[in-house]
Amino acid sequence: MFLEALTVGMLATNCYILAPGRGSPALVVDAAGEIRSIVSRLQRAELDCKGILCTHGHVDHVAGAGPLSEALDVPVYIHEADAGVLAAPRTKLMGLAGGTLPARPRRVVHVKEGDEVRAGELALRVLHTPGHTPGSVSFYTPGYLLCGDLIFQGSIGRTDLRGGSLRELMRSVREKVWDLPDDTVILPGHGPETTLREEKARNPFLVGLRGSAR
Ligand SMILES: [Zn+2]
Ligand SMILES: [Zn+2]
Repeated sequence: MFLEALTVGMLATNCYILAPGRGSPALVVDAAGEIRSIVSRLQRAELDCKGILCTHGHVDHVAGAGPLSEALDVPVYIHEADAGVLAAPRTKLMGLAGGTLPARPRRVVHVKEGDEVRAGELALRVLHTPGHTPGSVSFYTPGYLLCGDLIFQGSIGRTDLRGGSLRELMRSVREKVWDLPDDTVILPGHGPETTLREEKARNPFLVGLRGSAR
């Protein structure tokens, strides 16, 4: 698999480019900004971007989604509960950064639990993982979990912003993440990658948590 991470924007958001290999269709997760560098990475690996996926509707994750979708003529995928951030052209963004969205994407596709977004042989399965925001989703493909601001190395996403719920977040972790294979690489929205095994062992919010058995 082709996987490249770029850290972009003022809040150092991780943007991921995934593809089955070089010279193939690709998906971009969290086009947070600096779209020229995203486009040049795509070109360098001869990737044909098929869609832009948003883990959730915070400006530090979606700021580049509109302009990139326009530049590449591809749809933006986001959960309906967070999609309002894309519909309002100059939204004040949920207390974060106080920024405004530069452009609204022309095509928005709402994703829900169990959906699959494909690029060639690469399929990303949608897990609805609310808590950080009501429409937070994680994207899973065997070996990798792109979880946005659900889990970070040693921490979890904030739940004090609008629509956030610590209870929901912990339930998302228990019911959607816990039972994935322990060697799953977690690709978070901020900070370094980690593994599920590592977080179960060391993340103070996860240590002692049980899976879906409550
Ligand atoms: Zn966020
Ligand atoms: Zn974030």
